[in-house]
Amino acid sequence: MSHDHSSHTEAPNPFATGFAGRCPRCGEGHLFAGFLKTSSRCESCGLDLAFADSGDGPAIFIMFIVGFVVVSLALIVNVLFNPPMWVHLLLWIPVTIGLSLALLRPFKGIMIALQYRNDAREGQQTDDDHAAE
Ligand SMILES: [Zn+2]
Repeated sequence: MSHDHSSHTEAPNPFATGFAGRCPRCGEGHLFAGFLKTSSRCESCGLDLAFADSGDGPAIFIMFIVGFVVVSLALIVNVLFNPPMWVHLLLWIPVTIGLSLALLRPFKGIMIALQYRNDAREGQQTDDDHAAE
């Protein structure tokens, strides 16, 4: 698939491609080769995905979001039903694990897409040709 540099300005929305786990440049190829393992390159446009390193970024967002949601729900359930503690444990431990796992991949995808969009990477020699193939 050929592409020119002008297509850089009409790049796909990083939130949409990241959430869907698609390539941040073409929006077609798969970003992930496993659950959280990124592909080495996009099978559609050939983008080298070696730059993709979201580090601890997704985990921090998910800790805040899931923590807020689960604690809020636990408080509401406690006020409304005042269940014994084992009910809380039975409810919120699976919800916490499930929500965290469900959010990890889309969040990692979004962070990698934003990393690509904003050209955020470790310091390296300048490479004006983004489409190095
Ligand atoms: Zn691609």
